[in-house]
Amino acid sequence: MMKNILISGAGIAGLSLAYWLKQYGFRPTVVEKQPTLRAEGYKIDIRGVAVDVVKRMNLWQTICQHRTAIKESRFVNRSGKTISEVHPDLCGARVEGDLEIVRGKLCEILYEHMGNVECLFGDSITKISQDEKQTFVEFEKESPRTFDMIIGADGLHSHVRKLVWGDETQFLNKLGLNISFYSIPNYLNLDHVEIEYHSPQKFAIVYCPRDGLAKAGFAFVAKPNELNLRDKALQQQSLRNAFQDCSWEIPKLLEFMEDTPDFFYDCMAQVHMPKWSKGRVTLAGDAAYAVSPVAGQGASVALVGAYVLAGELARASGDYLVAFENYETCLREYIKENQDLAKMSVSILKGDRSSWLATKIMWLTLRIGQLLPASWIRFWKKQGQKRTAKAANALTLKDYSSLVAHAASQVVVDKANSLHKGVDDGRANEAHPSPL
Ligand SMILES: Cc1cc2nc3c(=O)[nH]c(=O)nc-3n(C[C@H](O)[C@H](O)[C@H](O)COP(=O)(O)OP(=O)(O)OC[C@H]3O[C@@H](n4cnc5c(N)ncnc54)[C@H](O)[C@@H]3O)c2cc1C
Repeated sequence: MMKNILISGAGIAGLSLAYWLKQYGFRPTVVEKQPTLRAEGYKIDIRGVAVDVVKRMNLWQTICQHRTAIKESRFVNRSGKTISEVHPDLCGARVEGDLEIVRGKLCEILYEHMGNVECLFGDSITKISQDEKQTFVEFEKESPRTFDMIIGADGLHSHVRKLVWGDETQFLNKLGLNISFYSIPNYLNLDHVEIEYHSPQKFAIVYCPRDGLAKAGFAFVAKPNELNLRDKALQQQSLRNAFQDCSWEIPKLLEFMEDTPDFFYDCMAQVHMPKWSKGRVTLAGDAAYAVSPVAGQGASVALVGAYVLAGELARASGDYLVAFENYETCLREYIKENQDLAKMSVSILKGDRSSWLATKIMWLTLRIGQLLPASWIRFWKKQGQKRTAKAANALTLKDYSSLVAHAASQVVVDKANSLHKGVDDGRANEAHPSPL
């Protein structure tokens, strides 16, 4: 059976894949370009079938222990006056059983849980080629090696996708918004509280969960020439420009970005690809089917995608052609539902006049919102919660648990065989002398 699988990216998708593949008796290797695990990011949600996935990983309890436990969600107006208080689950479009956790904490939990997996931190793939038997990989630092398969789980701007499929502009569907998140001192003395500030074409949010670290987040309509900013100084200037006319605590929040240890900024985009696999290479998580932060389902989709891909590889006994086909068949509709979630929110935030419904919503927000802000916010949050719950559950998970037991016995047999043959079980994949 094909065993050696290289995963590029130690984010939620990559770490979950490593866990599941190991459970099924594969030998995953993770390569991550950062020198350590990237424990940054804002809070993310685990909803619907993704909750079942973390239960099947035996992680539900641990995630519960570390969840943000926000007790209060407030909406403020320009002068900082509270115009509405909403239950945090309603604000986050969660239903009972869904979980909210800081992205970095989830990565740490997944990393701890995946067990003994080879990790190449501070490295990146530079070249990929393949023939009918294997793939040949060159790295920035590590010597060239061969693997049976490669999975690109290296995020929205996936490097594996670029190497195998070409320039990202073919697949990235930019939504016309930028986002930024970073840690701030808890100078507002927030105690398990989040505060949202909305203004035309932009919003800001601050929160402080149980670990006492406060974060600020921003989303705003991007100028066309500001969608591709890679330079940190330009990114920070673009954020300042977007919020320069805002009051409340915004000027102070912007001051903190210069010294923050974890400034994150990107365009909001989705990935749409006609096929997620090419030969022995496939993609998972944001690399293959990013739904965008505005959908609020990126982490859930990454967890579910990893579960399905690893399960289908085990079910097909490593026959990658069969497995990759089944992986797409199982997931496509679920991905579409979750990508569609983003569209309405984007239209509303952008005030997109080409969307009839969005225009009506904007009009109603301006007219009725002035009279009934609290009930109006609750009404729209409830609609969002219903739509999100539908998309989060738009898949029936297959049960691959019998394959775990099968794989465990296979590993015992394999180990006996390798001892017998004197083969090194850990890294039996050496470089091919003449990559195609
Ligand atoms: C630092 C960071 C902060 C984020 N913060 C938020 C947030 O606050 N809110 C939100 O909604 N979403 C956030 N996201 C995106 C969110 O994590 C994803 O949408 C979702 O979790 C899907 O995860 P993923 O594993 O597919 O991708 P990601 O979480 O993006 O993980 C991809 C991983 O691949 C690594 N990588 C990239 N290029 C290479 C390469 N060439 N070689 C090897 N490894 C590579 C990255 O360093 C990263 O560890 C963040 C992502 C990152 C990386």
